Amino acid sequence: KKGLFMVPGPTPVPERVLQAMHRPMINHRSAEYEELFGGISNKLKELFGTKSDVLTFPSSGTGSLEAALVNTLSPGDKVLALSAGVFGDYFTKMAEDFGLDVEKMDFPWGKALSVEWLAERLAMDHDHEIKGILVTHNETSTGVTHDIEALSKARGNHPALIYVDAISSLGAIPLKMDKWKLDVVITGSQKGFMLPPGLSFLAMNERAWEAYHTSKLPKFYWDALTAKNFLAKAQNPYTPAISLLYGLEEVLKCFAEEGMENVYARHRRMRDAVRAGAGAMNLRLLADEKVASAAVTTVCMPEGIEGSKVQKAMEDHYGVSLAGGLNKLANRIVRVGHIGYVSDTDILATLATLEMTLLKMGVELELGAGVQAAQKVILESEGFSTEQEYILRTRG
Ligand SMILES: *Cc1c(COP(=O)(O)O)cnc(C)c1O
Repeated sequence: KKGLFMVPGPTPVPERVLQAMHRPMINHRSAEYEELFGGISNKLKELFGTKSDVLTFPSSGTGSLEAALVNTLSPGDKVLALSAGVFGDYFTKMAEDFGLDVEKMDFPWGKALSVEWLAERLAMDHDHEIKGILVTHNETSTGVTHDIEALSKARGNHPALIYVDAISSLGAIPLKMDKWKLDVVITGSQKGFMLPPGLSFLAMNERAWEAYHTSKLPKFYWDALTAKNFLAKAQNPYTPAISLLYGLEEVLKCFAEEGMENVYARHRRMRDAVRAGAGAMNLRLLADEKVASAAVTTVCMPEGIEGSKVQKAMEDHYGVSLAGGLNKLANRIVRVGHIGYVSDTDILATLATLEMTLLKMGVELELGAGVQAAQKVILESEGFSTEQEYILRTRG
């Protein structure tokens, strides 16, 4: 069956990237490898918006979340963890498991992390006990993109490091590490990077490297300084995931050809098309427009309709994979991933089959209304004015 993969990770991999990975192994201590890895590592800095090194580890994104903590903190260090969803909770839990003194602040799921709360909390910390602030850039479970730039600004002159889980944003949603004064940024390969799972990335700025030298949490495989020293000769301490690096080299070419501004604009357009389509189908959206993610849209299910049944029907009848709600959102929402190698055409097909699926499940809707709303968003992005659009419509 021909499938359509609309989940927020792992995301579809372009054919040319699959082809690029299909190559023989090379010696990871050879000049050929150094050229490959050195080239990739330099280009990654641009993508992160940083002059600092971007370290690459063979792992899923979580590996680098762990590396971020163990390389900069010591047992008992106080950290603030801001959470408004499953992934915020998960970063919090990790910090707790490492014996950090975690103060968690929960915000409503589907809403943004509060910049005001952070500013007030830090203003109270006269003795600068707080060493770190953990935040999620794009909360994949709720479809909210948090305003990391504003959160970082709210920190002002407080010395706490800011740690950003950018696993479902980098490559799809702009992030400017140096300009926004982010100290530690983490991402993975299987979302915005259009690669299979298996690579994670960690960037630390100068302040974070200073913290490295006093940090006492144990590290060996994840030791960032070891990785940084090897990176200086375009190598890795241990055997790298060579096939995935072949793929990454090709992905970086794709990004350069499309242009990052166009990549980001495509993601915003897909978000707007999905939201317009869901709205026209009378489906409620969990995230407000102002905070809505360009990577994943969380669509609330009508009363009496279980999200998991919609997912299964979409998959079984039309080969369209959606993601379900996580944790307390289970069955209440479906998540439409539009991150990575996804196009406007995929969005139209998804909305069309979602209309058919809901209709069959007894939901009252006008077939085609959602698709039409999305078509309008796409046409407008192509420069069609309302008038031209009217002519197009009445001609038929
Ligand atoms: C997917 C995701 C993770 C988990 O990453 P893995 O690559 O599965 O380890 C963590 N945080 C966010 C925001 C995510 O979207």
